[in-house]
Amino acid sequence: MIQVRGRSSPVWPVHPRPLPDELLSSWMTRIARANHTKVYSFYASYFGREHQIWNRDIDKLAPDWLMDGLEAWTGLDRSEIERTTLRSYEGVLYEHHNPYGNTKWILPAGVYHRTRRRHGLVYCPLCLFEDAEPYFRKSWRLSFNTVCEHHGSRMLDACPKCDAPVVYFRRDLGHRRAHMVDSMVLCHQCSYDLRRGPAYDPPAPDGETLMHLRALITFRDMGWWFSGETTHSYSIAFFDVLHHLATYLTSRLGRRLLEEAEKVMPRPMSNGAVYRRMGLDMRSVEERHQLLLTALWLLMDWPRRFVGCYSATGLCMAQVTRSESFPYWFVRALQGQIWPFNKKALAKRLDGFYNISDIPEKAEIC
Ligand SMILES: [Zn+2]
Ligand SMILES: [Zn+2]
Repeated sequence: MIQVRGRSSPVWPVHPRPLPDELLSSWMTRIARANHTKVYSFYASYFGREHQIWNRDIDKLAPDWLMDGLEAWTGLDRSEIERTTLRSYEGVLYEHHNPYGNTKWILPAGVYHRTRRRHGLVYCPLCLFEDAEPYFRKSWRLSFNTVCEHHGSRMLDACPKCDAPVVYFRRDLGHRRAHMVDSMVLCHQCSYDLRRGPAYDPPAPDGETLMHLRALITFRDMGWWFSGETTHSYSIAFFDVLHHLATYLTSRLGRRLLEEAEKVMPRPMSNGAVYRRMGLDMRSVEERHQLLLTALWLLMDWPRRFVGCYSATGLCMAQVTRSESFPYWFVRALQGQIWPFNKKALAKRLDGFYNISDIPEKAEIC
């Protein structure tokens, strides 16, 4: 247990509870503000300056000494505090949380000293505007969260005025004379009020795919998921395939699948964009939105739509999976193409979705 330094009170004078889905660093910033102290000074006085907090990604790291201190000084149940950390997604969205490196679906903050180089947090200006007390959500650190689950508008990942990442606890640094941080919703770099950011309609291939993405964002921790009429009792299996496909579509070979999908999509998403090579979670919110919707569109009406596009690419299973292991429902669809196959039988299975003349005579055998 961490030692209380220079303070006699067993709990902080004011210790608001985390708000629904609140992120650890947002909650900690609100606690310091509620106690009329600047964030850095407040936590340094309790934890000591030797403990690094704000030049780390504490939402991801959530070290034991920090959890111990918060538990002691807020008097809250440990489980309520741990729910504010990104580790709580372990076993729900991915298998293993990596506190020191990148974890699938978690936006990297790119912490460098006290600055953040990456846009590791998205936000909805309308949610912040409607909040009685504005705060930042834990789910806003997830890379598939590109549309607000409440307002349906596209999420933003930077200050609309100066393009700085959102780092609400950094307003302290530029205002040394101020008694405390004025507001969490002002850009730390240019003071723009993030609540006044634009609320764009998100582009989508069709309404059904957009609804599927919104459902995925809203019911992210349900534990099971579906594609077409196929139910996945273990949602991580679906999340793994979605992440892989959205990443794969920008690779040299995966581009073929993207092009085939865009030939038949009601509204192509990439708009001819050439994607730079980088991981999905490193991309801007616009690019993630385009790629996730294309991957989701392919996974809907499972397996008909995917099989139609995949068979037209001439790719083989190993070229798609890249030797990674995937759930059987996905592998089975890929395996169906490794053969000299019966074109008529496949066309019947595709039920007119794909033009028979677009189906190659023979897929590549690996
Ligand atoms: Zn919203
Ligand atoms: Zn700004």
